[in-house]
Amino acid sequence: MPRLCALCSAQRPILKRPKTGQQICKTCFFHVFETEVHNTITEAKLFQPGDRVAIGASGGKDSTVLAHVMKMLNDRYNYGLELFLLSIDEGITGYRDDSLETVKQNQKEYDLPLKILSYNELYGWTMDSIVEAVGRKNNCTFCGVFRRQALDRGAAMLGVDHIVTGHNADDVAETVLMNIMRGDIARLGRCTAICTQGEDTIKRSKPFKYTYEKEIVMYAYFKRLTYFSTECIYSPDAYRGHARSFLKLLEAARPSAIIDIIHSGEACEVGEEATKELKERKICKRCGYIASNDLCKACTLLEGLERGMANAGITDRGRKQLEASGPTPDGLRTIPFFQMNTDTPLDSASSTPIPGQTVDARIPAVVHVTAG
Ligand code: SF4
Ligand code: ZN
Ligand code: ZN
Repeated sequence: MPRLCALCSAQRPILKRPKTGQQICKTCFFHVFETEVHNTITEAKLFQPGDRVAIGASGGKDSTVLAHVMKMLNDRYNYGLELFLLSIDEGITGYRDDSLETVKQNQKEYDLPLKILSYNELYGWTMDSIVEAVGRKNNCTFCGVFRRQALDRGAAMLGVDHIVTGHNADDVAETVLMNIMRGDIARLGRCTAICTQGEDTIKRSKPFKYTYEKEIVMYAYFKRLTYFSTECIYSPDAYRGHARSFLKLLEAARPSAIIDIIHSGEACEVGEEATKELKERKICKRCGYIASNDLCKACTLLEGLERGMANAGITDRGRKQLEASGPTPDGLRTIPFFQMNTDTPLDSASSTPIPGQTVDARIPAVVHVTAG
């Protein structure tokens, strides 16, 4: 007698579930995949009816499946969410320009409003021009800092309450391993949180926190979703690459390794001593974004780029060198002033509130100021 699906015992199995090893049919796979994400969302009470939620969309498999599943669950379980797609264009020729075409196609397929915000509009630099200035060593530091702030600013322009990202279980387990290997105990304490929200930042969460990457790929394949699978042309973080290979080896020997590592991270209690190192939050005096120093990380990196001392913005020592090299020259490009969750948007050029302007009309543009 042919073997039957381990869940419904009715149909022939067509896949072995990477997470559990069960042989199951396609219908049951879709059902367990979607239901587990729904359970993650409801157990963590991620949303409230009426929430405006932006899906961080890159055109890759994780965010494409996330957009598909979020839209489906919102309809199926009446979450009552207003969904948007939010994409950041880093300005990487041959990579992001192509993947954004996929996002535009997804927008039509899912019929969701799409906002694209580019590094060029916001910072006056593309990743292509940054790599020309800094080389391929620290490019991902610039990209990561700039993306984080761009997502918050894009979300503020859409007037959303919440950003969801496609980070999956493999990403979270990898981050746990990296924080252990770096001895970064303070970050270890925070990196498994499903939802993060600082006082002044928009809430971010990871509905795929317990979803295996291999299952996301299978889901996209069986649902025939359109996604972009090319890697960034600029070398990704090599250290993360080692953590990833290590995790894949562990997963091959024991598939539950990914979930086990996440659970270990969740169970770690981080003492006060470790978190003391996290600096007090301030507001960047130049752009209004959250910062640990007088200037936020993005303003510091941008000033380094603008002054031809690109790598000076990366370390605390470099930042001090930048400060010691004299006052900021006039006419440097800076980031438009940022204000969260306000009904009175700011005119980015003058930082003066303009009554009657809608949130969507807040167009960021690089501004030239007499910097302080
Ligand atoms: Fe940016 Fe680095 Fe990712 Fe490329 S690999 S998109 S440069 S963070
Ligand atoms: Zn079945
Ligand atoms: Zn700033």
